[in-house]
Amino acid sequence: MIAADTATLRIDCTALAANWQRLDAENRQTTPHAATGAAVKANAYGIGVDIAAPALLAAGCRHFFTATLDEAVALRALLPNIWIAVLNGIPRGAAREFLAHRLHPVLNTLPDLADWQAVAAKPNAPGALLHLDTGMARLGLDADDIAALIANPAQLGAIKLDYLMSHFAAADIPDAPSNAAQSSLFAALSAQIAKSCGQTPKTSLANSAALFLGPLAASDLARPGYALYGGNPTPAAPNPMRPVLHLAAPVLQIREIPRGASVGYNATWSAPRRTRVATIAIGYADGILRAASNRLTARHGGATIQQIGRVSMDLLTFDVTDHPAIERGSRLTLLDEVQTIETLAEQANTSGYEILTSLGPRYRRVVEPL
Ligand SMILES: *Cc1c(COP(=O)(O)O)cnc(C)c1O
Repeated sequence: MIAADTATLRIDCTALAANWQRLDAENRQTTPHAATGAAVKANAYGIGVDIAAPALLAAGCRHFFTATLDEAVALRALLPNIWIAVLNGIPRGAAREFLAHRLHPVLNTLPDLADWQAVAAKPNAPGALLHLDTGMARLGLDADDIAALIANPAQLGAIKLDYLMSHFAAADIPDAPSNAAQSSLFAALSAQIAKSCGQTPKTSLANSAALFLGPLAASDLARPGYALYGGNPTPAAPNPMRPVLHLAAPVLQIREIPRGASVGYNATWSAPRRTRVATIAIGYADGILRAASNRLTARHGGATIQQIGRVSMDLLTFDVTDHPAIERGSRLTLLDEVQTIETLAEQANTSGYEILTSLGPRYRRVVEPL
C-alpha cells in the first residue's frame, strides 16, 4: 500500500546492532567476562519490539529485560530461546505464567519471595533476580527488608538467585556522589546476602549511562536501553552512539498568509510579515509533544525550519517563507543525524526517553534490515 501522506519512521537495524556491540565492548573493557543485555520494555522504547529484539539478537544479545509480564509473554512468542527478565516483578498469583513462558522474575519485595515459592522448587523453575534498592526508593528490597532477609535466609526457601541487581539514580551525571555511594552499598549488601544465603548469585547493575562510569558500575550483566536506540548516554559529552531513527513527514498543503494573520489553535503565533506556511502530517498523537509548540524545528535540505503555532493532534505548521524549494509533497525531517532525540527533548522541555517512548503507532515504520 502506498501511504504517501503518512509520516515515516525509518529504523536502522545496522545502527541498532552496532550500538549494542559498542555498549558490549564498553562493558567488557571494564569487566571482561560480563554480558550485555538489552532493555526492550515499552515496545523497545517506542521503536517496535518486533523490529528491535530480533536485530539485537542478531547482534549477539542474549539477555532481554521487559517491564511487565505481558511484554515478556509477547517477546517470548517472538523469540523462543532468549533469556527474559521482568523488571516489574510477579503480579499477584502469576508465578505459574513465569514458569510456563520461562521468564525470570525480578523479586522486588519480601512477599514476592513468598509468591515465587509456589514454583521455585520445580526442577525447571527459572532463576530469579533479587532487586536491592540502593537509592531509588522505587522498587526493590529496602534496608529493613534486606536486614530481615539476612537474619532469616530461610525465607528464600527453594528460590535460586541468578542475579542480585540494583539501579542507579543519577548514572547520567558522572560526578554525582550517589553513584559511588550506591555502588559500594550494592557491593556490601551483595556480599552479605551471598554469605547468608549460601548462594553465589551474579550481579546486574548498569543501565546505558552507567556503562560509561567505569569500574563503579561493573557487574556481570548490564541492562542498557536508551543508548541502544541512539539516545546519548553521556549527556555532558558528544553522543558515542549511532543514530537509529529517521523521522519525516510530507507537506500536505502550502499557503500564504498576510502580515498579522495567526496560525493554529488559540492563535499563539502571528505573522510578523507575509508568511508562507507549510502543514505536515504529524502531530501530538504521533508523539510530537504539544509542549514543543512554537519551539520545534524540522530540517529540509540542510536547512532548519521553524515550527509555528500550536502543535495539533495530526498536524504541524512551519514557516517556510525563506525556503521556496519546500512545496506540497516535500518531506520535512524531525529526526536525523543532526536533529536528534535530544534536540526534540530540549524543545519539548523533557528527556529523550519521553520522546522515544512517545513515538506513536501511526508512523509507517520502514525497517532497514541488518
Ligand atoms: C529502564 C531500565 C533500564 C534501562 O535504562 P536505560 O537508561 O534506558 O539504559 C535498566 N534497568 C532498569 C531497572 C530499568 O528500569
